[in-house]
Amino acid sequence: MDKILVSACLMGAKVRYDGRDNLLEHPALQRWKAQGRLLMVCPESLGGLPTPRPPAETQSRFPILVTTREGDDVTPEFLAGAEATLKLAKQHSVCCALMKSRSPSCGNTQIYDGSFSGTLTEAPGVAADELIRNGIPVFNEHQLEELIRFVEAQTEAA
Ligand code: SF4
Repeated sequence: MDKILVSACLMGAKVRYDGRDNLLEHPALQRWKAQGRLLMVCPESLGGLPTPRPPAETQSRFPILVTTREGDDVTPEFLAGAEATLKLAKQHSVCCALMKSRSPSCGNTQIYDGSFSGTLTEAPGVAADELIRNGIPVFNEHQLEELIRFVEAQTEAA
């Protein structure tokens, strides 16, 4: 059975910028975990950022620039985390990913716009973008039913 990459904070790892988690409790996640199908990844930790860490937002996508509110450039860490996430995804042949919405790394459809004012914009986070551009479908925690249907279809086809 194919593995599913999942944002570590959704599984209860306290790796968020503020040292907290985003625990998502759902029977499907427990089942996949028991089956050894989950590959838990925190791109920002993989990129070398500490926990806790200052919140960061994408200022520009082309070229990519991610900074903290204080203006510190954390683009290299975000890019390294995205690359490491893709490498792991390929090594484990994941079929898809479940990633935390609105995160500057893990968000799949929306991120904050760089103004640190809580304003959202339609764009993926750095690591989610890397996966999507490499053909790995990324779902967020509000699309869990969609992900379950996708995984079931993959399993039936195998
Ligand atoms: Fe969670 Fe992703 Fe942020 Fe890590 S980078 S804390 S996995 S949302």
